[in-house]
Amino acid sequence: MGVIVVTGIPGVGKTTVMQKAAEGMDIKFVTFGTVMIEIAKKLGWANDRDEMRKLPIEKQRELQIKTAEEVAKMGNVIVDTHCTIKTPQGYMPGLPEWVITKLKPKTIVIVEADPEEIYNRRQKDKTRKRDPDSIEEIAEHQQINRAIAMAYAALTGATVKIVQNHDNALDEAVKQAEPVLKGLYEE
Ligand code: ATP
Ligand code: MG
Repeated sequence: MGVIVVTGIPGVGKTTVMQKAAEGMDIKFVTFGTVMIEIAKKLGWANDRDEMRKLPIEKQRELQIKTAEEVAKMGNVIVDTHCTIKTPQGYMPGLPEWVITKLKPKTIVIVEADPEEIYNRRQKDKTRKRDPDSIEEIAEHQQINRAIAMAYAALTGATVKIVQNHDNALDEAVKQAEPVLKGLYEE
């Protein structure tokens, strides 16, 4: 029983890889931000993501904590989220201490690919609006995510698994993620 956090920079393929890996298994798949907005709506604090972003920081923190507590109660669950968020003021932790310690993940999965591959995926995927980062910026963002994942691990005792999701090698990526999912059924 437990929580797996899946991270990776936007467009790397984390939703694609982990949804496929969890197919046919009794594991819930949720997006942290979606659970958060549902809670905000229930409390009457915000009706959509934009309104939520504009809430006072204190309220946003409270919402993050409530979300982590809710997810931690879901049983076997994969939480899709971002390790860090790139802002004009610098990288912001996606799972600050008061969130990661409530989530208590068993494993943090980082989905990675070559920066060039990510760059091209972002260009091709017209269903989403993602940052127009350069290849160097994508490489830097991946480095930062490795560093912060180990910091999250130090706070919680989680393991960190790096899954390489190269072009047209989705099955290989899914295979790398399998032991992590199996780990949910071990004590
Ligand atoms: P976000 O953080 O923005 O939600 P994400 O990491 O969840 O992004 P996906 O939406 O899963 O990324 O994938 C981004 C794009 O890359 C999609 O168009 C997807 O089909 C494609 N993609 C994912 N994995 C591979 C792969 N191994 N080879 C080629 N294309 C891939
Ligand atoms: Mg996604």
